[in-house]
Amino acid sequence: MSKVLVTGGAGYIGGHAVLALLDAGRDVVVLDDLSTGFREAVPAGVSLHQGDVADSTLVTRLIAAENIDAVMHFAGSISVPESMAEPGKYYRNNTCATLSLANACVEGGVRGFIFSSTASVYGETEICPCAEDAPPAPVSPYAASKLMSERMLADLESAHPAFRVARLRYFNVAGADPAGRTGQRNPNAAGLVKLAVETAVGKRDTLEIFGDDYPTRDGTCERDYIHVSDLAAAHVAALDYLEKGGAGTTLNLGYGRGYTVLELVAALEKVLGRTLNKRRAPRRPGDPPRYFSDVTRLNATLDWRPAHDDLDEILRSALKWAGALA
Ligand code: UDP
Repeated sequence: MSKVLVTGGAGYIGGHAVLALLDAGRDVVVLDDLSTGFREAVPAGVSLHQGDVADSTLVTRLIAAENIDAVMHFAGSISVPESMAEPGKYYRNNTCATLSLANACVEGGVRGFIFSSTASVYGETEICPCAEDAPPAPVSPYAASKLMSERMLADLESAHPAFRVARLRYFNVAGADPAGRTGQRNPNAAGLVKLAVETAVGKRDTLEIFGDDYPTRDGTCERDYIHVSDLAAAHVAALDYLEKGGAGTTLNLGYGRGYTVLELVAALEKVLGRTLNKRRAPRRPGDPPRYFSDVTRLNATLDWRPAHDDLDEILRSALKWAGALA
């Protein structure tokens, strides 16, 4: 039976995708260099190959030896501020590595390729809800590195129609596996939910709220938070879609509605049963005020519906994983 290769499968989102694939009865192989991933994130029984996705000799050998028919590609660098300081690292680890991997996949006869992209390709857009045909305008090397990868993959697909690609643009991913099997292990991850949870467990003194004078219902920025397990399940649905003959596509992954920073913090405090130490801080440069997904194409394309579209559930799972709740 053919197997699915998950690059970055020892990481946060990749690790949840491995579980979603196993839950769907798929055979999975992980390729991860463990630079930010964790060996213990890979479930028992799944083989972990420690190596670089840009090592085409390794990837070519893996595709043949493990009978790989599909690839989910999560491996890469993900910090926007770091990408500003070290753009070369981002074009190397994201763009160049994806090209190398994709070429090896085309040559190895891989048919389905699911690419981990980001809604930050839309940049500081004022279009909200934001659909996939909104003009991309990345403002960071991170977002540009992902957009360039999307473009390369689309060109490879045009030239090699047997190689079909779903490019999935994530909105704000948060939470942890509802069964507690995995969660965010990366100490350097820095999204709002992660930072709020760290404040809840005392790893951080104060949560800063960046900007309270945006043109939104309470002055703080509005974002589309999606449960990581729903996001992971959407990857499996995207693979099913490609395997049933679906054309390559670009899809937003979000729930299609937003919560403000203050709404999120209030929800977390309610779930936690106490208040967080927090303070107002200046706006963070580059933050669009309102940013959520248009889910029309997602709903029309994939046989997938969210199972955890509930802010309290997202926050409860993240707090539980961090040990802040029983
Ligand atoms: N944010 C905040 N305090 C923090 C981290 C984030 O107020 O310590 C805000 C941030 O300005 C944005 C929202 O929370 O409006 C989500 O930020 P995050 O970095 O999680 O994701 P982004 O939407 O920037 O990709």
